[in-house]
Amino acid sequence: MADRYANFANSGVGRAVVKRLGLPDPPRLRRYRAGDPLTTGPVLLGAAPGGRLADPVRKQLESTGIEVTETGTEGTRHGALIFDATGIADSTQLRSLFDFFHPYARSLHSSGRVIVLGTQPELTTGPREATAQRSLEGLTRSIGKEFGRGVTAQLVYVAPGGENGVESTLRFLLSGRSAYVSGQVIRIGTASAPAPADWEKPLAGKLALVTGAARGIGASIAGILARDGAEVIALDVPGAGDALADVANKAKGRALQLDLTAEDSPARLAGYLAAGPHGGVDIVVHNAGITRDKTIARMDESRWDSVIGVNLTAPERVNDVLLEQGLIKRGGRIVGVASIAGIAGNRGQTNYATSKAGVIGLVQSTAPALAERGITFNAVAPGFIETAMTAKMPIGLREAGRRLNSMSQGGLPVDVAETIAWFASPGSAAITGNVVRVCGQSLLGA
Ligand code: NAD
Repeated sequence: MADRYANFANSGVGRAVVKRLGLPDPPRLRRYRAGDPLTTGPVLLGAAPGGRLADPVRKQLESTGIEVTETGTEGTRHGALIFDATGIADSTQLRSLFDFFHPYARSLHSSGRVIVLGTQPELTTGPREATAQRSLEGLTRSIGKEFGRGVTAQLVYVAPGGENGVESTLRFLLSGRSAYVSGQVIRIGTASAPAPADWEKPLAGKLALVTGAARGIGASIAGILARDGAEVIALDVPGAGDALADVANKAKGRALQLDLTAEDSPARLAGYLAAGPHGGVDIVVHNAGITRDKTIARMDESRWDSVIGVNLTAPERVNDVLLEQGLIKRGGRIVGVASIAGIAGNRGQTNYATSKAGVIGLVQSTAPALAERGITFNAVAPGFIETAMTAKMPIGLREAGRRLNSMSQGGLPVDVAETIAWFASPGSAAITGNVVRVCGQSLLGA
């Protein structure tokens, strides 16, 4: 559904009205197009004394052709500000953050990027360092709310020893692929993360299964994974017929009609994958989902059961069968689709929020054991995304969903799809157990 307000606010007359009345001002976000450079200008890279990431990050950035400077000059416009805060071991040293960001806060291009690198508090050497590292979250979340103009800000915690596993994340966060991701905390571990042979086709040779692929976010996921080189199996209910075939054709993949809630569906899916030429699957995206909204007092039991069944029990059952039968290959990726409703709760959505909080629980409870098999399991938690699902919302709620975030607009299905493609990349082997919101830094549950 078209966001008429955003179109108006970006028109000549609209810009003046919005400014004069102090109305929300949705910027045009920079989204990825093939061939675009990763950043819109040079990266200013700073570090607190003793930081362990500035050197490897500089090398990784320079190998991508990005210009990196370590001393800003007045008047230079930057594509990104990156600060290595891993050297901060005490609250008194937090001052180095102010010293870096204060003079350059206004130096970013529109849709510029802020990335702060730190150490997971639980992996530090003592309470003082853990406290200082935990503080970084407040800084990045506030910068995300202050800078405006489509600038995003993230905190990336990198485990000691994980210094070489950051490139896929830097590429994602710097580029237009992360246009609607802001205020997030990403945790990178130590698993070895081989760089893909070709960063433009990181999924070449991989087979990906996308559930709920006939429309909306799922259709976009199928398209983006195919763009990145994967062969795609697009799965949806038999009723989705033509739309599903269309998505599969566009992705040059295969369509699979299956109602995931049917008792025998996980076994049938396993049989289909086992019999295929690939003998299994590399990437599984549990995107199929439904809403059946009512307050809990008015809800009948079928609304409760169907939402939990599609959104949570089906991914659990599919995972169990595919993992038991060894059909998710070593180096595999599982991605769940949660929702900010599962983090913040939502009136009229007890069933949906329960199921989506459950998706987060599924990731967190399963990821550690899967790491031993070289499989990662992460989730995206979309906020307000422009799809058929959100077009059905009452207008008041819809407008609130669109404006109550740092971008003052809804996200697009492609924003969720790009985030999933980053998780799916071979270069993201050290990222597991993460839940990353694709919500433009929505105020809900923040
Ligand atoms: P959508 O309704 O447009 O698409 C969902 C797809 O899932 C449909 O094609 C549907 O046929 C399929 N599906 C439903 N039940 C199924 C079943 N039993 N077996 C197989 N397929 C089934 O929804 P969307 O907006 O594209 O949402 C996709 C995912 O993102 C969902 O999990 C949703 O909860 C989540 N999400 C969406 C938003 C948003 O703003 N749109 C926000 C947060 C989370």
